[in-house]
Amino acid sequence: MEDCIIVGAGPAGLTAAIYLARFHLSIRLFDCGSSRAALIPKTRNHAGFPDGIAGKDLLARMLEQAELYGAVREMFEVTRIEPLAEGFAVHADGRTFPARAVLLATGVVNKRPEGLDDPLHGEALMRGLLRYCPICDGYEVTDKRIGVIGTGDHGMREALFLRGYTSDITLISPGAGHELDVDCAAALDAAGVTRVDGPCGGYTIEGERIAVDTAAGRLAFDSLYPALGSRIRSRLAVAAGARASEDGCLEVDDHQRTSVPGLFAAGDVVKGLDQISHAMGEAGVAATTIRNMLAEQRPIRR
Ligand SMILES: Cc1cc2nc3c(=O)[nH]c(=O)nc-3n(C[C@H](O)[C@H](O)[C@H](O)COP(=O)(O)OP(=O)(O)OC[C@H]3O[C@@H](n4cnc5c(N)ncnc54)[C@H](O)[C@@H]3O)c2cc1C
Repeated sequence: MEDCIIVGAGPAGLTAAIYLARFHLSIRLFDCGSSRAALIPKTRNHAGFPDGIAGKDLLARMLEQAELYGAVREMFEVTRIEPLAEGFAVHADGRTFPARAVLLATGVVNKRPEGLDDPLHGEALMRGLLRYCPICDGYEVTDKRIGVIGTGDHGMREALFLRGYTSDITLISPGAGHELDVDCAAALDAAGVTRVDGPCGGYTIEGERIAVDTAAGRLAFDSLYPALGSRIRSRLAVAAGARASEDGCLEVDDHQRTSVPGLFAAGDVVKGLDQISHAMGEAGVAATTIRNMLAEQRPIRR
């Protein structure tokens, strides 16, 4: 039986692997290769890298560090976490792996605009024409022409957040018309955010800009921010009995414990700031709590 199985090798899972391996615990680390961090062309708000670092390079460095202490990333999708009388059975690759504790670090998936195919999506992301995280890279669009694809409260909040970086913001409805209540519309008007109806489609890269068809015709922007929400990858924990918010974020206490004893969660899959630093911090807390929980079950001694 492993001391802990970590599901997900993004910034949260890899941080936990580094900590747990350095606690001399036996771990397994399962991943299916879809970290959001791998989509970051260059993060410039992650402390310690004044020139920025590509998400893939950061992940590679973290994996190298975890491997130094004996962690091994196994590329299997976990399909089920089954709570047992003592510990868990983790199902992956048609096999069952027993563990005393499980840490879920499976992250979220951003909802993409419809009609933006994979190659165009990838190129636009890498060139900063498409961006998903104003907290991360709003600075990079300072005084640029920005489109936000979204509506309702979520679209309004994203547009107003970006207003802190530029005065040229257009909020484009993904569907035909905007769904904005009076307060949202008033807040957008007060901030000088232009509103345009959709539906959005016909995305193309035109030189240094990304263009999109809208009800107001074809518009080109320095960057587009989809504000369409995320799919939270909490299904495994919820099926194991863990409590989640309405939108699927796992509920944890201040030691990253879910409502299922021995099942922990860290990173984007938990409600909080969807940022690398936050994912790493939560994983450090989770790993140390797991270590101390296991030490209560049997002494950890050399
Ligand atoms: C375009 C973009 C730019 C960003 N820029 C920044 C930035 O500049 N600064 C910043 O702080 N943050 C940035 N972020 C956010 C950052 O990427 C996330 O906050 C961070 O990756 C969260 O880490 P995580 O470990 O929780 O989840 P992820 O990094 O998403 O990792 C989750 C891992 O779990 C694995 N997984 C999921 N389900 C299973 C399963 N069933 N079995 C096995 N493995 C599974 C996935 O394959 C994945 O590898 C950006 C995000 C995007 C999309």
